[in-house]
Amino acid sequence: MEAITPDGELIAALEEERKKSPELAQAIDLHHEVISTRAKIEAEAAHVKPDEREVATQVDERVPLMQRWELGWDQESFSRLSGQICDVGARHREDLAPQFNEIRSLLIEEPDQTQSIVTSHLREGKVDLPEHPDVDQQLLSFVLVNALHPFLQAHAAVLRPMIRDEKWYQKRCPVCGGEPDFGYLEEKVGGLRLLCSHCDTVWTYKRGECTFCGNSDKDSFFYYLGDDEAYRLYVCDKCKRYLKVLDGRQTASKPLLPLQRIITIGMDVSARQQGYR
Ligand SMILES: [Zn+2]
Ligand SMILES: [Zn+2]
Repeated sequence: MEAITPDGELIAALEEERKKSPELAQAIDLHHEVISTRAKIEAEAAHVKPDEREVATQVDERVPLMQRWELGWDQESFSRLSGQICDVGARHREDLAPQFNEIRSLLIEEPDQTQSIVTSHLREGKVDLPEHPDVDQQLLSFVLVNALHPFLQAHAAVLRPMIRDEKWYQKRCPVCGGEPDFGYLEEKVGGLRLLCSHCDTVWTYKRGECTFCGNSDKDSFFYYLGDDEAYRLYVCDKCKRYLKVLDGRQTASKPLLPLQRIITIGMDVSARQQGYR
């Protein structure tokens, strides 16, 4: 499987994009600073020593590799990074500062809870916090994805080269089990490549069905073309989920998917306004 985009490359691409799309400056500046901050964390996955045959068996059984080789993360670096990301968020988005501060105190002042928060974020893609009803789930997920990114990347770097993509063919990421948040239609055969919302692994899945619930009924699973017709917003009326997709047959060069995820925030806004999540 192909290598994950290093943060340095993503930062340079964001700087290029900012010149081309000044209307995205606020979003790009926020992501630029968050990614630059997380890139300073040095993480390693020295404890992960998988055996090639064991990996193959697990892929054959369609079980994400992190269920067997668990993610190791340094609590202190994670806490510090979460706090920094909340500060960056509050600074760039004053309108969301109270929400970022709430998440900051949840993750830093209650370290006992952190382990269970991270575990349910990774396993279920959401965190139930009955005692903290005011926490904004979307922002919490943004903070967790970025604060875990250095550890997930180090982990994925060991495991990904051993995965045979064509054997996997599932809706969830083969490395961490995360859901996709961006798709890419390949230029030649039009196969669908999915980008993991948690660890940026890219894998192949079939076209023509919802990547969340498997619905393939054309009346309830369909897409809208973007203003730029290379982009499609796939929506499913059965599970109310959406996926942003770039049609590689309409782009000049191979896109950087983690960059595409950021610069298509307009599509997220429009999908959510229509009641999809
Ligand atoms: Zn993943
Ligand atoms: Zn669906």
